[in-house]
Amino acid sequence: MNKIAIIGPGAVGSTIAIDLLTIHPDLRLLGRHHQTLTYFANNNTGHAHTLQVTPLTTDQSQVDVLIIAIKIPQLDAILREMKHLIHEQTTIILAQNGHDQLSRFEHPHVFQGVVYISGRKSGSTVTHYRDHKIILEDSPETRAFQDIVAGSSLEIELTNDIDYAIWYKLLVNLAINSVTALSRRTAEVLQVPGMKHLCKQLLVEGVAIAQAENVYFDDDIIDGIMTIYEGYPNQMGTSMYYDIISDNPLEIEGIQGFLFRKAKLHQVDTPVLDTIYSLLLAQQK
Ligand code: NAP
Repeated sequence: MNKIAIIGPGAVGSTIAIDLLTIHPDLRLLGRHHQTLTYFANNNTGHAHTLQVTPLTTDQSQVDVLIIAIKIPQLDAILREMKHLIHEQTTIILAQNGHDQLSRFEHPHVFQGVVYISGRKSGSTVTHYRDHKIILEDSPETRAFQDIVAGSSLEIELTNDIDYAIWYKLLVNLAINSVTALSRRTAEVLQVPGMKHLCKQLLVEGVAIAQAENVYFDDDIIDGIMTIYEGYPNQMGTSMYYDIISDNPLEIEGIQGFLFRKAKLHQVDTPVLDTIYSLLLAQQK
C-alpha cells in the first residue's frame, strides 16, 4: 500500500494530482487551507475537474511518497511544516525548477525532479497547458516511484545524468524568465530589437558556468534553446513573469542567483548575468 501526498496545489501539483488520482484515489493534495479547485486540462479544451485541497498543517498521517510542488521561496516554510508527514523510508520528490534546493533537506531519500508540466494557477482555478513529464535520477526509490505511477498520465523519465537534465532546464529558464519578468511582458518581448541577442548572451554565460561545474553541452545548445523560445506563442508568460505581475516572491535564488554564485566561485566573467540578477533583486519586495 503506497500512501501518497502532494504539497502545493498549484499548476504543477494539481496536474500531478489529477494524473495520479485515477490510479490512487486516496492521494491527498495539501495546501495552506481547505479549498476546492477547478482544474481545466489541456489548455481548457477538456471538461473541468474538481480538486479538493486539505490543509497541510492539519493532515496527520504519514505517507510513503511525498511530492513537493511549491515555488522555491516557499520551501523553507514547507520544510518546517511537513515533518509529521514523513517516516524514515518516505521518498520525497521535489518537483521544482532551479538548482541546489536538495541541500536544504535532512531526509535521505529526496530527489529533484526536472518538471515538464506547464500550467498556471489563478485564484482557485488551475489551467493546464501542456506536458505531464518529470525527469528523475535513476535509483531504486525512483524506479519504485515509476512503478507506483505506471498506468497514469504522469510520465516518469529516469536518467543516469540528472545534473545534465537540471542544468539544461536551468538554462532554458534563465533567459526567457529573466527577460519576461524584467520587462513584465509575455514571450512577445522577444520581438523587441536586441532581446534575442540579450537572451543569447545570457545563455553563453550560463553555458560557461555549467562548464566550470563540469556539465558539458553540445555546441548547438544555444541555438536549440533559442528555437524553443521562438516556438513560444506570443501571449505565453513564464512562471517568473506571472509571479512578478502578481507580486509574488520570485524564484531568483534558485535560478539567476544560483548561477551568479557559481560564476563567482569559478571566477567566470558574467557581466550580463550580474546585471540581470541585480535588476531582478531590485524587483523583489
Ligand atoms: P504555483 O502554481 O505557485 O503553486 C504553488 C502552490 O504551493 C500554491 O498552490 C501555493 O498555495 C502552495 N503553497 C505555498 N506555500 C505553501 C505552504 N506553506 N503550505 C502549503 N501550500 C503552500 O507553482 P507551480 O507553477 O505549480 O510551480 C511549482 C514549481 O514547479 C516551481 O518551482 C516552478 O518553477 C516549477 N515549474 C512550474 C511550471 C509551470 O508551468 N507552472 C513548469 C515547470 C516547472 P496558494 O495557492 O495558497 O498560494
